[in-house]
Amino acid sequence: MTANSVDILVVGGGIHGAAIARDAVGRGLKVMLAEREDYASHTSSASSKLAHGGLRYLEHMEFGLVRESLSERAGLLKTAPHLVSPLKFLLPIFDWQKRSAWFVHTGLALYDLLSLGGEMPGSGRLSQSDVDALPHLRQDHLKAVLHYHDAHADDARLTLSAALDARARGADIANRRAVTALTPRENGYTATFSERGITSEVDARFIVNTAGPFVGELDAMIPNGPSPKEIRFVRGSHIVLPMPEPAETCAYTLQDEGERIIFSIPWLAGNFLMVGTTDIPQGGAPCHATCSIDEKTYLLEAYNRYFSRAGGPATMSDIVFDWAGLRTLHGRPDEDPSRITREVTLETAQQGTGGFLSLVGGKLTTHRATAEQVLSRLQSMGLDMGPAWTKGVPQYGGTLDREALRARADNGPDAISQQIRQRWAFTYGDKIDDLYANLQEDPALAQEIAPGVPQVELQHVAAVEDASTGEDFLWRRTKLELFLDQASRDKIEEWFATN
Ligand SMILES: Cc1cc2nc3c(=O)[nH]c(=O)nc-3n(C[C@H](O)[C@H](O)[C@H](O)COP(=O)(O)OP(=O)(O)OC[C@H]3O[C@@H](n4cnc5c(N)ncnc54)[C@H](O)[C@@H]3O)c2cc1C
Repeated sequence: MTANSVDILVVGGGIHGAAIARDAVGRGLKVMLAEREDYASHTSSASSKLAHGGLRYLEHMEFGLVRESLSERAGLLKTAPHLVSPLKFLLPIFDWQKRSAWFVHTGLALYDLLSLGGEMPGSGRLSQSDVDALPHLRQDHLKAVLHYHDAHADDARLTLSAALDARARGADIANRRAVTALTPRENGYTATFSERGITSEVDARFIVNTAGPFVGELDAMIPNGPSPKEIRFVRGSHIVLPMPEPAETCAYTLQDEGERIIFSIPWLAGNFLMVGTTDIPQGGAPCHATCSIDEKTYLLEAYNRYFSRAGGPATMSDIVFDWAGLRTLHGRPDEDPSRITREVTLETAQQGTGGFLSLVGGKLTTHRATAEQVLSRLQSMGLDMGPAWTKGVPQYGGTLDREALRARADNGPDAISQQIRQRWAFTYGDKIDDLYANLQEDPALAQEIAPGVPQVELQHVAAVEDASTGEDFLWRRTKLELFLDQASRDKIEEWFATN
């Protein structure tokens, strides 16, 4: 193997690419990962941010997917406690809805059964006094409120943590590295890159195509690739509203007038509510998806149908932020997008002793298990590797439980406010110690570049986490985009432009 040859080139630094690179390098393989923009810059920062079993998949009898998701959810709560936390959901049942209380109750009982072995509280029904105490839920025609648990997950940082763990174990990973061509060789492919304006090549025995919505573009780069598939893009959008007074502490699973499910989720330490999502077929070439006016109207109507706030119904002017992502699914054009399976599909093509694999679908929650599935497939194509190892192994930054993280925040340097230390603990996990160490070495780094953003943090994300723009930091490394005003965001952008 020459210096510029690898066993596996992973194309795409979303959750799947990052998880596959991490697993592969830990099995003794030489791995490179190329991400054209930033890690998680497409679907993996645009999800509903849930590590969940997918309660509604039970309706479609996808028991295997739900069981696997629940088991992975339990694993994530332990291996990434800084990024994944339990969340109580309420499920109100009104007399005008299609699904009856009895039907939903049975589904929740099955959900509990499938999650046996996890440590989440079981489901149940709220007492009338608890229902009466709910701050904003409309009570007309309300028949019952059921409850169950799932988990909230920081999708972008989960992706980053897999990528950084892969690097820590020896993989060559980079963002702003685009694969522009793939040329077949006797036993694999030569890949051409463009990385920050410089063109280079690497020989790879196997190519793993985890380009998300761009999977078809990569497939088309090779002549004898996997057979063309029917790929559909289904856009899912979210809106963010300020948290009403009094604050909601539970998430809600709501049924719209049809059969769709919409979540309303307290977010970012209870400062906001995120409401989503939609299922809108999107034609044309893949792109950065955006939330349309119609989707905002639909989500506001859904929210207002269920909740009444003291200041009147939520309106367009209450929306403080929104985002959209593309689900990339295998499915016929006439299929109802809500009903197409979220199971991952893998397609392969052999190239001598090497080959090509492309991945469509999947879930953030099941990324670890999906990576194992991909590596077994490569093994069956002739790639020797060590055994599976990732189950139960802490993610990057994930060695401290939530109590220990709170203690780390409480016992940090006085020069940094408790609020910032708390945010750092549940952003950087055990790597908070690196920020503290840097501050000890140079106390001047406590100086804030923008309110609540000490210089030491920007240096850390630039040096260790490959952040190079304001957006990398404000939207994917943190969620400060929602807390800082324009002038402060400009200061952050300027810092990245000049450092
Ligand atoms: C609206 C919505 C809500 C969702 N909610 C949930 C949820 O709550 N829980 C859950 O478990 N799952 C959820 N999912 C599913 C989950 O988000 C996706 O399955 C997952 O993020 C897909 O990740 P990926 O790595 O396959 O693709 P992506 O994250 O899209 O990554 C693909 C990457 O490839 C890069 N790339 C493309 N072309 C090239 C090239 N030529 N060279 C280099 N890089 C390239 C792109 O820049 C991109 O970063 C949701 C999905 C959507 C759309």
